[in-house]
Amino acid sequence: MEQEDCEYFKKILVDKRNEIRNDLGVLESHSMNNTSADSSGDLIYSDHMSDLGSASMEREKAFLFASRDGAYLEQLEGAIQRIEEGTYGVCRVCQTEISKARLEAVPTTKICVACKEAEAAEKEKRA
Ligand SMILES: [Zn+2]
Repeated sequence: MEQEDCEYFKKILVDKRNEIRNDLGVLESHSMNNTSADSSGDLIYSDHMSDLGSASMEREKAFLFASRDGAYLEQLEGAIQRIEEGTYGVCRVCQTEISKARLEAVPTTKICVACKEAEAAEKEKRA
């Protein structure tokens, strides 16, 4: 892959990573606040039981959101690492270069369209 393409995709990946880190940072500080409130007893012994119910639902949603984003963040980190190692944009199965159009659509991908389709077909057969 050309140097300027590397820079181009690296920027996309790093921007996305920073965006998600920010999102997760907000969620993390939220859950930290909840934890400290719990341990001090303020939340647990409050009279607002209905508030408690919705608070735990909010926490559950936040957790799901965080875990999905956490997985994506890991993929982004991996892709950035591959750019730094010079292996980004190369299919891990057939070792050919992945098309730029595919990388634009899925910047964290590790395999080319042909191999992805072959893999999907293979899964169908096994299912
Ligand atoms: Zn391939």
